[in-house]
Amino acid sequence: MITICIHGGAGTILKEDMTPELEKAYLAGLQTALNAGYAVLEEGGTAVNAVKAAVVVLEDNILFNAGRGSVFTKKGVQEMDAAIMRGEDLEAGAVCGIRSVRNPVELAAEVMVNSNHVFLSGKGANDFAIKQGIKLEPDEYFFSQFRYDQWKSLRDSDNYSLDHTHHHLEELMKDKKFGTVGAVACDANGNIAACTSTGGMTNKKYGRVGDSPVIGAGTYANNKTCAISCTGHGEPFIKAVAAYDVSCLMEYKEMSLKDAMNQTVNVKLKNMDGEGGMIGVDAQGNFSMLFNSAGMYRGVKNSEGVDEVAIYG
Ligand code: ASP
Repeated sequence: MITICIHGGAGTILKEDMTPELEKAYLAGLQTALNAGYAVLEEGGTAVNAVKAAVVVLEDNILFNAGRGSVFTKKGVQEMDAAIMRGEDLEAGAVCGIRSVRNPVELAAEVMVNSNHVFLSGKGANDFAIKQGIKLEPDEYFFSQFRYDQWKSLRDSDNYSLDHTHHHLEELMKDKKFGTVGAVACDANGNIAACTSTGGMTNKKYGRVGDSPVIGAGTYANNKTCAISCTGHGEPFIKAVAAYDVSCLMEYKEMSLKDAMNQTVNVKLKNMDGEGGMIGVDAQGNFSMLFNSAGMYRGVKNSEGVDEVAIYG
């Protein structure tokens, strides 16, 4: 069975805070990304190419906190993180603290395929992007007024915020829920892959890196177990080694994908105040999308006719 799942971030996403127009725009954005990824699988493409295709669409959509429309850091700039992993041979590529790169997931894939390394940061990663001819954009490309306003309300404090949780910015976040993006897929050959791309958390400290690009924390894929992409409060996700935790529960405790994800999201992370969720597939094409927050932008499509996008719990 071929399957792709995507997410566009998790947090306090409530129907009563959403306008019908915005809800429609989010669902349409998710569906377009899902279709792009699924088309790759349907044509016999690899899981890696499918997750990349879906995430590029989400990065280009200003509604989501990745690529264009990324959140602002404490210093008022955008620093993006991304990772990709291939379950067949555990090859992985990741970048963090990058600027100006139109599609961070493509740079992560470039690191995986065309460097001897797994993880590049900051200027080194940006220099590598230039050397590899990865598409760059000026600062204006990434700018969005709603995230700028969101940052302005936080910048004089030490608070930082999950993109769509209104702990500290109840008013501002009304009608403005957006998020980190990710995809996992199982292709016709039974190979799986995962990728995640994010602007991180609003008002994050200069140099702060969350779970998304950390292999094993926000992103992980192994044909023996699962492919996982996480979204939520990055610090607890790193401490829980969340994505790899699911893989371990499957590998060593022989849990199913669903049970393992439930254990990690609703027991382990919940006990650590780790708000958020994750999407996962295994090499049979089974999938699960779980979150302990009010909502998670998500979608799934497979060769058994499942084709859904959803937002709320
Ligand atoms: N996990 C991301 C981070 O901590 C944020 C998110 O998923 O919304 O950087």
